[in-house]
Amino acid sequence: MTAPTYDLGKLHGGLRLPAHKSDATAQPIRDVPLPPQLILPITQHVGDPAQPVVGIGNRVLKGQLLAEPDGTVGAPIHASSSGKIIAIEPWPVARRLGDNGPCIIIECDGDDLAVEHEGLTADYLSLQPADLLLQILDGGIVGLGGAVFPTAQKLMQARTCDIDFLILNGVECEPYISCDDMLMRERAAEILSGAQILMHAMQIDICYVVVESDKPEALNSLGGALGELDDDRLILKQVPTIFPSGGEDQLVQLVTNREVPSGGLPTDVGCLVQNVGTAAAVHDWVINHEPLISRVTTVSGDGIANPMNVRARIGTPVADVVEFTGGYAERPEHLIIGGPMTGRSVSTDRVPLVKATNSILVVHRTSFQGRELACIRCGDCASVCPVQLQPQQLFWYACADDEEKLREFGLTDCIECGCCDLVCPSHIPLTADFRIAKGRIQELADEKARAERARQRFEARNERLEREKKDRDAELARQKASAKQAGPEAIAEILKRKQQESEDD
Ligand code: SF4
Ligand code: SF4
Repeated sequence: MTAPTYDLGKLHGGLRLPAHKSDATAQPIRDVPLPPQLILPITQHVGDPAQPVVGIGNRVLKGQLLAEPDGTVGAPIHASSSGKIIAIEPWPVARRLGDNGPCIIIECDGDDLAVEHEGLTADYLSLQPADLLLQILDGGIVGLGGAVFPTAQKLMQARTCDIDFLILNGVECEPYISCDDMLMRERAAEILSGAQILMHAMQIDICYVVVESDKPEALNSLGGALGELDDDRLILKQVPTIFPSGGEDQLVQLVTNREVPSGGLPTDVGCLVQNVGTAAAVHDWVINHEPLISRVTTVSGDGIANPMNVRARIGTPVADVVEFTGGYAERPEHLIIGGPMTGRSVSTDRVPLVKATNSILVVHRTSFQGRELACIRCGDCASVCPVQLQPQQLFWYACADDEEKLREFGLTDCIECGCCDLVCPSHIPLTADFRIAKGRIQELADEKARAERARQRFEARNERLEREKKDRDAELARQKASAKQAGPEAIAEILKRKQQESEDD
């Protein structure tokens, strides 16, 4: 084992924020009981929605495939417990655009019977890396740090680049959120096992396991597990606690001093970043054959009676999760799915916990609100932006709906960290505006891609029809030539057939 090292690489901008984590980390992770119903959105990942392969009335087992990926980017959805599908319908969800999304609803039977996943081997070292990647694809695993990019596809993209380092992201810098910290304390061995699986799948020789210096318990636990593994390829690194040092690009810079280019990916500079929770999920699937059907989430904030970290089935209504922890401290005023900086406000606790839910935060509205005033061009937002953007300019172009300027000024590089909001003396909700503008740009890009796919399908169909017509004409010409020798009845028969085919066309 290599001794932990400090890396004090410097980030641009960022903020030192109060942690607010000790309440939730005071007790071990607790398991939320199975709820009566599980609500499983078919979109829990970046990419196209998964397509249901079950129907209303079907009985399903825990771990059974409910919806399969459709398109080049996507992830399967599995049943989090056994029961009956009672509906496939829109349900309130926490997401970028809109309040409702199509969901598969399971009425749980309480037996929690699991399906057998056949043909998998826990002896992953016997698999070729490409076969291991295909195995990971079937586990429904997505980036659990919040990005929810399908893990197997991220790995496949990375295989097209020269990767020097796997960076395991245990940097959980957003206030209140402590699910990764608790996972590192309690499941360090499984996280490291997941890292070894990823290293084999990607043929990478060095893995940095990166944790902030304010998490001594997690560091101890990982250090102990590393000692038992005795694998020198895994190196534990500490970094200072600055928000948002857990952002992928920021982490790459902190750990390797390599700068991810604007519009680029960590893989462009030889790094593959995976969240520690994702690594544990890879272990659970490859070694135990349990797809991603549960996760650890932090339930916290001054509106929660008893803050803690819990493990809950994907699809559990947030109301059930909160009730299990001891309920609301008082009437909830502001419910956020995710952290205070990057999360999304929702209007109901009927929304389900999904693969992306790293935190359920309940706070008093006054903690986050101030009256919005006009921009005074102070420049504070630019000085804290970790991506070195000009938020005040972006805000201006977002208001003007100027897509071209938004692109030119790097909106797509914005990591939606919320630092600019926090320092803005005019209380302008910059990040919310940027999210909406990015959503619009993405929608336009999706629309363009859909139109392009439709154009290609149309052209391919026309080409095929043209080809078939040519083949038929050639065949008729051949038949005519031989019929000339056969007599007038045969010619009449061919002409009749030709007329029939024209009518069919
Ligand atoms: S939300 Fe975007 S613009 Fe604002 S500080 Fe973060 S990265 Fe910069
Ligand atoms: S911090 Fe607020 S007021 Fe200051 S320049 Fe940025 S947007 Fe304008």
